[in-house]
Amino acid sequence: MQLRAVDLIARKRDGQSLSATELAFLVNGFLDGSVMEGQMAAFMMAGVLRGFSEEEAIALTEILWHSGDTLDLSAIDGPTVDKHSTGGVGDGTTLLVAPLLAAAGCTLVKLSGRGLGHTGGTLDKLESIPGFRTGLEPEEAIRIAQQVGCVVAAQTARLVPADKALYALRDVTGTVASLALIASSVMSKKLASGAHHVVLDVKAGDGAFMPTADAAAELAQLCVSIGTAANRHTSALVTSMEQPLGAGIGNALEVAECVRMLQAAPTGRLVEVSLQLAVTALAGVRSEQDPADLRRELELLWREGHALERLRQMIAAQGGDPRVCDDPEQVLPVAPFVVPVPAVAGGWVARVPARAVGELSSSLGAGRARKDDDVDPAVGIVLQVEVGQQIEVGQPLASVHARSEEQAAEAVATLQDLVVLSDSRVASPDTLLRAINGPAVPTR
Ligand code: URA
Repeated sequence: MQLRAVDLIARKRDGQSLSATELAFLVNGFLDGSVMEGQMAAFMMAGVLRGFSEEEAIALTEILWHSGDTLDLSAIDGPTVDKHSTGGVGDGTTLLVAPLLAAAGCTLVKLSGRGLGHTGGTLDKLESIPGFRTGLEPEEAIRIAQQVGCVVAAQTARLVPADKALYALRDVTGTVASLALIASSVMSKKLASGAHHVVLDVKAGDGAFMPTADAAAELAQLCVSIGTAANRHTSALVTSMEQPLGAGIGNALEVAECVRMLQAAPTGRLVEVSLQLAVTALAGVRSEQDPADLRRELELLWREGHALERLRQMIAAQGGDPRVCDDPEQVLPVAPFVVPVPAVAGGWVARVPARAVGELSSSLGAGRARKDDDVDPAVGIVLQVEVGQQIEVGQPLASVHARSEEQAAEAVATLQDLVVLSDSRVASPDTLLRAINGPAVPTR
């Protein structure tokens, strides 16, 4: 029988599952115009309200994944790894994980996105380094990855075009919030990027898509199932995005923070998440080794400067000024107004809300309100406190890096309101919340 969009929408409305052929009819029809935008939006809304089965999520991922170009990494010797975060504030993990795994013998061809809303994007961060190019053709990206072990490039419009079209529609029709739609969107891009090992950082909390650790774990589990069904070794961590992960929130500020971290011994929440992501990926590559040994090896590579060296090589290969790895503040753009934010009272820091702090940094110019806005690489916030810390009145909570004195003054007052203090002791919250390790899958 001839498929009709209206019948498929009605079936989803009534809580039924669709076959891979039926889903492909809708998605491909939406792309070629034979299924109307209104029909696709109605179908998505029915799916958000009624849910999709795991089989539907896997089928949808396949359809999106094969809707455009895919990256062929077969020329790369040794294990290929990809890493993805569902988006956060002060989340420079890619800048740490990519060179660290490269130093451990893996190869990462990481296709990244730009920041939108309150979350930062790796491309914007790296482009704050003078000369750094992210618009690479696949051949150049693969060549750099072969030479250095890691490369970070912009996703081209030809990769997973169906996701781009669907995401734009979901964004304006209130249909982003579906586990299956998010998981298929994320995983289609990972599968099209070609790596055999995929490690995901699924964020939970105030600054994340998923408000709770349970919801984030459900998304993480679905992503792992989709990756495993596609014969990729896929694992995920669920990590907290209640408060910003790192101290720097803003493009050049985050690059500087990551370089300073790679120059020093590995400590702090951002480092902890990065190390654990790297251990998780490497545990799939070298499944015969004890994860505790892998962690020791990665920490040693970090301490001996090998990860920093890989970052330097990657920056140089992508046209950036490698001296950023020696003295980041001398090389990176600097905001004209850097103003401290004194605490208005003493106590324990109870809350540093990730979303609002991200939005504040974005409003200073570090992020965008619309997709094609320019970002200001220099501006943002550097936090000097975290939840659980005891502080005294007048102690700096942060510094604001702004383009004008007025913007700085406004941001200082906003931050003083945003950081919540308590009279009684507050425990430091956990950052690593769950781990979901997918089974080893042999490389073909
Ligand atoms: N990130 C994606 O890539 N897709 C979604 O649907 C949500 C977050």
